[in-house]
Amino acid sequence: MSGIPKTLENLIDEFSRLPGIGRRSAKRIAFHLLHKTPEDSKALAKALVDFVENVHFCSICHSITENDPCEICADPRRQRSIICVVEEVSDLIAIEATNSYRGLYHVLGGVLDPLSGIGPEEITIDSLVERVKSGDIDEVVIAANPNTEGDTTAMFIAKILAPFGVEVTRIARGLPVGGDLEFADKSTLSRAIENRVPQL
Ligand code: ZN
Repeated sequence: MSGIPKTLENLIDEFSRLPGIGRRSAKRIAFHLLHKTPEDSKALAKALVDFVENVHFCSICHSITENDPCEICADPRRQRSIICVVEEVSDLIAIEATNSYRGLYHVLGGVLDPLSGIGPEEITIDSLVERVKSGDIDEVVIAANPNTEGDTTAMFIAKILAPFGVEVTRIARGLPVGGDLEFADKSTLSRAIENRVPQL
C-alpha cells in the first residue's frame, strides 16, 4: 500500500492475520483506532502484552492458565479418575459452563486431519497417553466435535489407549452432526456428556 505511514501499514498487516479478519476489516479497525484517544489504544496494547506475557498453557492438561498447573488440574475437589478430551480450550469452557462435569480435562489443540498434514505429533496425544500411563485414570471421555476429523481422532485415541485398560467413551450423539461443540446449547451438551457411550 502506498501513501500511508509504514506504522499504519504494519498494524493493518498484523490485524489482517487474525482469523476472520480480511484486509478490509483490518483497515477499518486501524482507522477506528486513529479516532480513539491514545489512552484507549494504549489500554488495548497493554491488554495484549499482559495476555501474551501472563497466559500460558497448563503443563498437564494444555488448557490456558496464568498459573501452572491450571485451576482445574490443581483443584482437589475435581474427580481425578476421569479425563475429558477436547479439541480446543473453547470446548472446555463450553463444558464447564454446563456444570455437569467434575473431572479433569485434556486439550488436544486440534484434531487429526491427515489431509491437512495434522498427525498425532501435531496435537497433544503423547501427553494424554503419558497421563493415562502414570495416573489413576479409569475413564477417558472424548468430546471431539461430531464430524469426520472428530471421529478419526476419537478412534485413534481409543486404539492407542486400549493397552492401558482404561475405559474410553465418547459423548453421546444428539449434538448436531458437523456442528461445533462450542456452540451447542448447555442442556444438549450436558445430556451428551451424561449419556456418553463406549468408543470402540
Ligand atoms: Zn491443567
